[in-house]
Amino acid sequence: MELSVILEYQELDKRLMKLENELMASEAAKTYALHMHTVKTAQEQVFKQNTVAGEYVKQMEALIAEYEALDKELNELESAIKEVADVDGADFLIRNMQKLVNQLKNLSIEIGKMSAKIVELNQSHTASMAAGKEAAKKLNQSKGKYEEEKAKITPAAKEIKTELAEVEKKCSPKFLEVYNRLRKQKKVPVVVPLMDGRSCGGCFMELAGDAISRLSSETFIECPDCGRILYKK
Ligand SMILES: [Zn+2]
Repeated sequence: MELSVILEYQELDKRLMKLENELMASEAAKTYALHMHTVKTAQEQVFKQNTVAGEYVKQMEALIAEYEALDKELNELESAIKEVADVDGADFLIRNMQKLVNQLKNLSIEIGKMSAKIVELNQSHTASMAAGKEAAKKLNQSKGKYEEEKAKITPAAKEIKTELAEVEKKCSPKFLEVYNRLRKQKKVPVVVPLMDGRSCGGCFMELAGDAISRLSSETFIECPDCGRILYKK
């Protein structure tokens, strides 16, 4: 693709970005974005809390199963005590029972800790849900004003987008892929000239010789450092 097409594309897109920036700088858009962010944060928290809750439940079930198994073992030893014939046998049984009692005691401490964790998690979950609901309500309330603000730039933006679509037909898929990726990362301007025959016009890093020589045969290269689309004037 031709360098002139690249530059034309960037010029058009700059005009579109200017409109978008104007919209984003408005109070209505800022408020809307803030509530959107709060809703997303709450959603992420609830999602994380649900994942942790699932893990806690599994751990709790395992602890209870372990407790029940040891308790059953203890009961069996208790009933066996009647059938013990001598002192040695009794000693052995009592030692084992004591061991089980200690294990049970430790397990019940762990179960207590786990249930405290579950209660705490439940409380944060309730708080996140409430925060999410509140933010969603505010988001909904601020939507109207944001839409109003957006409507102001829509006709002009639509016109530019139509022009962009025309120029896009002359662009290589590779260029569009790189351009859109950088635009999303807000690395603007996306397309920059080579400066002084050796530096990137975006990040000012000096390029290696092979990168510079590639620029003689190709319309553009990606800056090895910042990734911007680099062309030779
Ligand atoms: Zn660069």
